[in-house]
Amino acid sequence: MHRDEPPTDPLSDGPAPRTRVVDAGRRFDDRIATANLPAWRASTVLFDSLAHAEAAGQATGRGERHATTYATAGTPGTLALADALAEVEAPGHACRAALMPSGLSAISTALLAFLSPGDHLLVSDSVYGPTRAFCDGMLSRYGVRTEYYDPTIGAGIAQLIRPETRIVYLESPGSYTFEIQDVPAICVEARARGVLTMIDNAWASPVFSRPFDWGVDASILPLTKYWGGHSDLLMGAVVIREEHWPRLWTAVRQLGVCVGGDDAWLVLRGLRTAEVRMRAHEQSALRVARWLAGRPEVASVLHPALESHPQHALWKRDFGGSSGLFSFELRAEAFGADAAGAQRALAALCEGRRHFGIGYSWGGFESLIMPAKIGSLRTARPWQGGPLVRLHVGLEEPADLIADLEAGFEAMRRVRDEAPQD
Ligand SMILES: *Cc1c(COP(=O)(O)O)cnc(C)c1O
Repeated sequence: MHRDEPPTDPLSDGPAPRTRVVDAGRRFDDRIATANLPAWRASTVLFDSLAHAEAAGQATGRGERHATTYATAGTPGTLALADALAEVEAPGHACRAALMPSGLSAISTALLAFLSPGDHLLVSDSVYGPTRAFCDGMLSRYGVRTEYYDPTIGAGIAQLIRPETRIVYLESPGSYTFEIQDVPAICVEARARGVLTMIDNAWASPVFSRPFDWGVDASILPLTKYWGGHSDLLMGAVVIREEHWPRLWTAVRQLGVCVGGDDAWLVLRGLRTAEVRMRAHEQSALRVARWLAGRPEVASVLHPALESHPQHALWKRDFGGSSGLFSFELRAEAFGADAAGAQRALAALCEGRRHFGIGYSWGGFESLIMPAKIGSLRTARPWQGGPLVRLHVGLEEPADLIADLEAGFEAMRRVRDEAPQD
């Protein structure tokens, strides 16, 4: 063997090993059909030619359907999910959907996309707390003025609309307090004045509501909740009328908000069972709510499907059902006299429950309990009632949940009775 001959590599039949490990297994037989799409994990998207890359770039810039140059603009899996969401949220309407990494980022992206310095924004006083923090924080720093309106305002919204009003931002029912808004009436007034309407549709989801039939221009879906459905992912989406899509898409591209392929796959899987899960949440939550309404410790149950709810008629007119989330208000007599006593009583009710976890978020298979601190979250219509506790009723047997809450009330009563009297 000559010394200058390259050493023979027993593995070097064809491409070098390091080339082979890069190349192997990337050609699959796309004629094999499965019920589900695969999960696309991707950053780079490949093109057949430079001309293809150029055309894809232009189509992606215009926000055309199924156009992508890079996974921040979409992969087959995320594009399939976006199509599915537009279809289920807005049947009969020409809409598009964009995916964001959380419900909150869907809210912030939708607002940033359409607002400019000097604009006026009308937001429901019953809005999700972090939405308020975004409006009062970053939006205010960028020169947008937010005004909160009474969620029961209905057509009265017209009086609050000014020449510089750009968006009315709704949420119905409201977070924690569950006011139902007259969304169609608000949309009519806003549209007549060239103002966009956006709604946070977390609670009802498309299973129980048709926000585009009500007249909204965009709806926000926290997919973290019932669409994911298993408390194991974070995602959000904005569904928007076609005419407003280019502006939203430009913001999505400039901000770089996007989602991972595995999470998109999980949301698409959650969607398949969303309707049956929500019917089960609905039935169980109603049983628990009706039981709570008969408890001596409870002043009121804030659940729009109960006849006692102040906007029950609106709920009946507009919604196809109710979900697993509602609040109840405790009677002052159920507590010790002072704030510390109240805190102890609340802790006794919530802590140590067998089936209700203490935690934020909701929409998964499991039940949750959380006192609501809404004092600072209401400015247009301050909360006048007693302490609120929010429940998410999961897929457990409702009788087990009721027994668990009964034990909580018993613990609360013991703590109150043992409290030092002065
Ligand atoms: C949870 C929630 C969101 C935010 O969703 P995340 O994915 O948790 O960011 C938005 N709006 C409402 C009404 C919610 O309950």
